[in-house]
Amino acid sequence: MTATVSNASPLLPFLPLTRPTIDDETIAGVAEVLRSGWITSGPQVKAFEAKLSEYFGGRPVRAFNSGTCTMEIALRIAGIGPGAEVITTPLSWVATSNVILEVGATPVFVDIDPVTRNLDLRLVEAAITPATRAIIPVDLAGLPVDRDRLNAIAKKHNLRVVEDAAQSFGSTWKGRRIGSFGDFVSFSFHPNKNITTIEGGCLVLNDEREAGLAEQYRLQGVIRSGFDGMEVEVRGGKFNLTDVAARVGIGQLVHLDKFTAKRRELARAYFELLDTPAVRALGLGLPVPDFTQSNWHMFQVVLPAWLTIKRADVMAKLKDGGIGTGVHYPAIHLFALYRQLGWTEGDCPHAEHTGRNILALPLFPAMTRADITRVVGALVFILQAHSKP
Ligand SMILES: *Cc1c(COP(=O)(O)O)cnc(C)c1O
Repeated sequence: MTATVSNASPLLPFLPLTRPTIDDETIAGVAEVLRSGWITSGPQVKAFEAKLSEYFGGRPVRAFNSGTCTMEIALRIAGIGPGAEVITTPLSWVATSNVILEVGATPVFVDIDPVTRNLDLRLVEAAITPATRAIIPVDLAGLPVDRDRLNAIAKKHNLRVVEDAAQSFGSTWKGRRIGSFGDFVSFSFHPNKNITTIEGGCLVLNDEREAGLAEQYRLQGVIRSGFDGMEVEVRGGKFNLTDVAARVGIGQLVHLDKFTAKRRELARAYFELLDTPAVRALGLGLPVPDFTQSNWHMFQVVLPAWLTIKRADVMAKLKDGGIGTGVHYPAIHLFALYRQLGWTEGDCPHAEHTGRNILALPLFPAMTRADITRVVGALVFILQAHSKP
């Protein structure tokens, strides 16, 4: 049968997968920075870092121009390079493992727990070798990895942890903010993330020595002293955040709690409509219903295996119905770059299955409950029309 999305309507505007919410105060603040005569790294970055540090309970924080270089720099500060193995998840944005290659170390993929879709900590210890130096876990969609178990493993085996918390700004673990404890914690402020600086990121560090090194790696390794002193000890890069971007971040932080609360409310609405016997019978995989710790960076379903339509066609039909979706993510170890390193099909079966069938549905603070109803109606209509008899 041919199916058209039930509630496709030219009257409804396109509902994107995600969209940042930037208020007028922030836009005016950006204009002020642009007129100020100082637009690259300066007082706004310092102010943003101070606010971030306060948010993370006083830990040192430095801001950067991405949530990728933050992880690369954390690895460099930890002295992780050629010969070292770093354990990570195959179900993430490819940045998570690219940074391991960037510093010359070897990524070791450990499969996910299909329920949480995060690194399966039960499998981590078996992957530790004498060359293992660090673990990079990811809080996929904002659902926090079990920090107690993670840090216990790291402590027992003397490993560094670089938390890829790109998606979990605003999430908590047992009442504590992600980033306020642990080892290195990396966040991204890409426009798709829960708060944005357009492009940007920040790294939470352990002490001022690490923070000083982070500053060196951030800008060509340069150390300035007095009026004319300059020294270079490490090979740094060009990773500094601009004041314009930092001003956007300052304006975003004000709304963080409101954004998180709204995302949780919308996720609840998805559950009310999808966690029913009728929809359950369709075999749709739902995320963990965590409304206290997760910041609901994304709402992702796993399409049922028996579907007679490809995921790409589900996405196309939803798009025809005015609804944007996304895939976060295909399993990293099956990308050509990683296959060249010896990774292959079957190495991480849960990540492979989830990566092939996962689908992110629209979720952002400016959405309404009616938008959720619209998405669920369209999705369920497609699933029902393409189920095996
Ligand atoms: C967004 C993201 C990154 C990279 O952040 P950028 O700011 O785009 O460099 C890394 N890891 C995960 C899990 C992400 O979602």
